[in-house]
Amino acid sequence: MAELYYDDDADLSVIAGKKVAVIGYGSQGHAHALNLRDSGVDVTVGLREGSSSAAKATDEGLKVASVADAVAGADVVVILAPDQVQRSLYAEQIEPNLKADAALLFAHGFNIRFGYIKPAAGHDVIMVAPKGPGHLVRREYEAGRGVPVIVAVEQDASGHAWDLALSYAKAIGGLRAGGIRTTFTEETETDLFGEQAVLCGGTSQLVQYGFEVLTEAGYQPEVAYFEVLHELKLIVDLMWEGGIAKQRWSVSDTAEYGDYVSGPRVITPEVKENMKAVLADIQSGAFADRFITDQDAGAPEFKDLRGKGEQHPIESTGRELRKLFSWVEDRDSDYTEGSA
Ligand code: NAD
Ligand code: MG
Ligand code: MG
Ligand code: MG
Ligand code: MG
Repeated sequence: MAELYYDDDADLSVIAGKKVAVIGYGSQGHAHALNLRDSGVDVTVGLREGSSSAAKATDEGLKVASVADAVAGADVVVILAPDQVQRSLYAEQIEPNLKADAALLFAHGFNIRFGYIKPAAGHDVIMVAPKGPGHLVRREYEAGRGVPVIVAVEQDASGHAWDLALSYAKAIGGLRAGGIRTTFTEETETDLFGEQAVLCGGTSQLVQYGFEVLTEAGYQPEVAYFEVLHELKLIVDLMWEGGIAKQRWSVSDTAEYGDYVSGPRVITPEVKENMKAVLADIQSGAFADRFITDQDAGAPEFKDLRGKGEQHPIESTGRELRKLFSWVEDRDSDYTEGSA
């Protein structure tokens, strides 16, 4: 059984006694900075010169500084820039300004696990990774709840890295829901596998194939969209509430029987072997190397794949259909369609 932590296991005064620099003000950055501030922590947001996020952070009453200045004054540096920029950001602006005993905190283990960032021995290296998007981390905190977190210590230079990690997890609201102890290696490899094989990669491909099969057989795209994409949310909500078993209980016996006899025809044992190959590429660092090499070259492969994905006919069908149920539209005003 995993080791679990709740609010009573952590001491808020540990993080409240430190100066914290949050680098980046995106999905996770804004949520961590605001939740820390509301938990009584001294926070400065570190941003690039000319960052469009500076005004947003200032409007919230947060202190904003250059990355260099925020880091120089900090006991704890929270690196919440995109994974692919963290290596150069660390080498050029963080490391040269870092106090010798400052702690480094991440929300995903990518750069530590694959060796793109190698902190000197004097730094605590900690991870507090919320298991949900940043906007939910903020919304749940404001509602008096929290998003569960997983917590890890890679390097315990101070001898108090765990106290600091749990205190931080409590300050962003994570221990109201619960924290699970993990390692940088476990978090990184399982996070990448989950998003590639199931959540993002697997699901997107499954939905696209389902849409293609129906429309190529002559069925209306709008009807296909409802069957293979729109209803997916309802099914996933049931799984989230009560596992696959609750989903099967809720659907008709016809659907449940079809699940048993046709699911394994579509997702064959060969797919499991493919998943193992994906995991092997994650573990070996081959995926990380491909991603970072492409990003360093200006992301030509990434942009090409993104463009092709947006051209799939399911996207134009969905854009038109969703206008019919406008209440869905204003649920995510942060996302502008077609721009990501
Ligand atoms: P994001 O893309 O939403 O935001 C990154 C922010 O970093 C930008 O808004 C900007 O303020 C800043 N930034 C961008 N480029 C920069 C540069 N070159 N120099 C300095 N600052 C720069 O990122 P995110 O999705 O919040 O991801 C941050 C970290 O959190 C990553 O390690 C990610 O894996 C992890 N994480 C994200 C989520 C999520 O919900 N998005 C969930 C769990 C963990
Ligand atoms: Mg994840
Ligand atoms: Mg991830
Ligand atoms: Mg149906
Ligand atoms: Mg049933």
